[in-house]
Amino acid sequence: MKWSRNHIYTLKEAPGDAEIPSHKLMVRAGLIKKVAPGIYTYGNLGLRAIRKFENILRDELNKRGSVEVLMPMVQPRELWEETNRWTEMGAGLLKFQNRNEHYFCLGATHEEVITDYVRHDIKSYRDLPRALYQIQTKYRDEIRPRFGLMRWREFIMKDAYSFDEDQPAALKTYEIFYEAYRAIFNRLGLDYRIVQADAGNIGGSQTHEFQLLAAAGEDALLVSDTTDFAANVEVCPAIDAEPIVSNESEKVLEKFETLKQRTIQDLAKFTGVEAKFLVKSLFFSSNDGTNPKDKSVKPIAVLLRGSDELNPIKLKNLLGLTNPPPMLTDQEVRELTGASPGSCGPVGLKCPIYMDHGVQGLKNWIVGANEDDFHLKNVNPGRDFQVTKVADLRLAREGDKCPESNGRLKAYRGIEVGHVFYLGTKYSKMMNANYLDKGGKSLPLEMGCYGIGVTRTVQASIEQSHDGDGIIWPKAIAPYQVHICLLDPADAKVSGFAERLYEELTAKGFEPFMDDRDERPGVKFKDADLLGFPLRVVVGGKGLDNNQIEVVERRTKTQHKVSATEVMTTIEKLWPQIK
Ligand code: ATP
Ligand code: MG
Repeated sequence: MKWSRNHIYTLKEAPGDAEIPSHKLMVRAGLIKKVAPGIYTYGNLGLRAIRKFENILRDELNKRGSVEVLMPMVQPRELWEETNRWTEMGAGLLKFQNRNEHYFCLGATHEEVITDYVRHDIKSYRDLPRALYQIQTKYRDEIRPRFGLMRWREFIMKDAYSFDEDQPAALKTYEIFYEAYRAIFNRLGLDYRIVQADAGNIGGSQTHEFQLLAAAGEDALLVSDTTDFAANVEVCPAIDAEPIVSNESEKVLEKFETLKQRTIQDLAKFTGVEAKFLVKSLFFSSNDGTNPKDKSVKPIAVLLRGSDELNPIKLKNLLGLTNPPPMLTDQEVRELTGASPGSCGPVGLKCPIYMDHGVQGLKNWIVGANEDDFHLKNVNPGRDFQVTKVADLRLAREGDKCPESNGRLKAYRGIEVGHVFYLGTKYSKMMNANYLDKGGKSLPLEMGCYGIGVTRTVQASIEQSHDGDGIIWPKAIAPYQVHICLLDPADAKVSGFAERLYEELTAKGFEPFMDDRDERPGVKFKDADLLGFPLRVVVGGKGLDNNQIEVVERRTKTQHKVSATEVMTTIEKLWPQIK
């Protein structure tokens, strides 16, 4: 490819809405261009990286027996009503009517369409197993699209779906996808972790996320320092490295005045008791809004140590909800307790009370008295109020004990690039997707689903692999491989050499890119660094006269000065060592 024929316009400055390095670099290098919030055009270079990654996906999936199909982006409401997700998915699903006033949505995910596709064809165990995948544009009406490709509204996903006879077979398929995903992300040569994750509203029970490590990642991960254990903080068990166990005996309940002491920090200062020994009460509604017609408030209280934070996903899962329960407003708290949130506690409450297991070791608690500006001391569960359930409800954090060893957890940030789910029979039951087993019995299909964010992975690769001057493409998805900086395009001797090199590279199976623009060398070098192809060859009059041609490795900026006849062999020698 020659620059003069391509449509690439690099920018010196990133636009104001680009917050993280990868987003800035993608816009500056012309890989993407914004059309509307969360909606972009892919330029030629961006698209080439995307296509290369797609081909890695195809390669690893095809050889493991998956079959590529392509489903529609526009999907009828009736299918989504079969699984209740027309309402459950909420505003993330973009819905509209056509001219016949039929409702449709844009595909945010394809469990419904694929289940409908196979249920008409799969008759018996002889048709199983099946694994189908597609690489396709998805639309999710994300509330706040940001970070370029990380959280787009319109983006490309690879989604796969599997159908098996029974759970053991389905879990074997899950393993195959898990291994395929490892192979795929290994081929990018990037630093990633496989973590336990929440199944979200897709349902199912077993699930892992593939997370590329990056400071700008939206996900908090906790990774064991001794074993392979790694989890998204959303589901990470929280185990105190040094549990607090009080040996005190239960003392007499007392009320005391705490004028203007609203927060745990205030109270800790006021009472001289460290936050980790205080108990805080939080209030939620267990109506998670899944049914838009039901506006009722169903209050619950949650007790945590003052130094801990609630994990809303754990609470959601404990209550068996689809979405994390919303917090009560100050007004709703007052209606329930008779006081403002800073003065509330569990004694006398008439709603279910859930207690984090970390609170269990404490005795003689200080909690709000459910009366403004008053607290109670020496409160003990069982005696002073009843706990509905004790559970692990707090957010795990760095320094907590590893759930599988005596090691400790370390915190990382990650970008979720892939996700594998074992779904079970949730969708097949709701959509009547059955097969006849060997005995002639009709059973629901066992399903799994497996997603990789194609556009997100390309951006995440840049987030992990760049420097102050630009992108450093992982070799496997670099849009082009060898960047020829032609410094004197008007000089026939120089351009002749560059042309021959370009042709030889092409003949040997490389993908060369030639900057043949009429630009100053400084501009060309800056752009070469920005575009970040793995190798650069500088071809100019001076170099040719001195028989010294520069071959530069982008990642390390190592320069190799070689004679004109050695350029090709140098490239061939360096190429296999490049990551
Ligand atoms: P997230 O938690 O980041 O919103 P998700 O868990 O809803 O993602 P999945 O349904 O698991 O996403 O989709 C599979 C993959 O698609 C994700 O692992 C991610 O890489 C990608 N993906 C999801 N949403 C977006 C988006 N808005 N923009 C770009 N890629 C996305
Ligand atoms: Mg996910």
